[in-house]
Amino acid sequence: MKQWFGEPAYKLTIDAGFTCPNIDGTKATGGCTFCDNVSFSPALRTGVTRISDQIEQSKTFYRERFNSSKFLAYFQTFTNTYDKVERLKSLYDEALNAPDIVGIAIGTRPDCIDAEKLQLIQSYADGSAKVWQHKLKEGRTEYERPFVSVEYGMQTMHDATADYVNRAHTHQETVDAVTLTREHAPDAHLCLHMMSGMPFETDEMILDSIHECARLRPDSVKFHHMYVYENTRMAQQYADGAFETPSLDRHIKLAADCIERMPPSTWIQRLVGEVSDSGVIAPQWGKSKMQIYQAITDELRRRGTYQSLLWNNDDANPQT
Ligand code: SF4
Repeated sequence: MKQWFGEPAYKLTIDAGFTCPNIDGTKATGGCTFCDNVSFSPALRTGVTRISDQIEQSKTFYRERFNSSKFLAYFQTFTNTYDKVERLKSLYDEALNAPDIVGIAIGTRPDCIDAEKLQLIQSYADGSAKVWQHKLKEGRTEYERPFVSVEYGMQTMHDATADYVNRAHTHQETVDAVTLTREHAPDAHLCLHMMSGMPFETDEMILDSIHECARLRPDSVKFHHMYVYENTRMAQQYADGAFETPSLDRHIKLAADCIERMPPSTWIQRLVGEVSDSGVIAPQWGKSKMQIYQAITDELRRRGTYQSLLWNNDDANPQT
């Protein structure tokens, strides 16, 4: 963000009122077994539903804490491309029109994207969308186009794991979404979300997914550990003893493995999931996120390694 805008830009979480095809019965019901979108939703937590109001409310926090003046509207809650293009345009326009918003990040499922939606996203990313021209007319010429990111939940390349957690999409659909995005929204930033420590996955399986993610060459990656949140289906399975959650040592090792295998151009957006929320049942590592980031850094130093050291450039081909 400093390279793009000359200063940091902070993500403000938006709940635009979407649902998810994995919840409403279109693909499945019940959602992913780990899903607890209520904890991510400012609208469900606070009752503030208008996007512009959510943005204003969240900005106050970051302004006071970091003295920040540039923000990204992060459409995070549920599936943020799951509607007609006209409604998507109206929601994204509203966010981009809000003062101090310099971009949007759109979190979605790989099976909820198509050429028409991506062409809308491309219009923001390449600066041709009228909403952004309107901002330029207001004198905001210090940067020419907004930062526009599409974030897909890949989580794992193993369909058996995806079935167990009721993802209701295949890995091939993730590959297809990446290919379609590069074709129809080439100026959009593409982020993939991955999860380590999912039920019954060995380290070798997670390394396979890391390698596959690197092959797809995302512009950025979020590498979360799996955690069990209260009032989810996974919480019941965990209480029944169906699986164990990952240890901190294992996650640190896998996070370092992930960094070593990512292309040099891929931004690492996250390396750990939620650790401090009171709704998290397990794992309970007793460490802050900063302590975990430090432990991952220490592991990289111990190995004498760095991002892309083990990246296999020959395998990188997102078209296949
Ligand atoms: S796809 Fe996302 S929003 Fe939908 S059920 Fe799964 S985690 Fe929740």
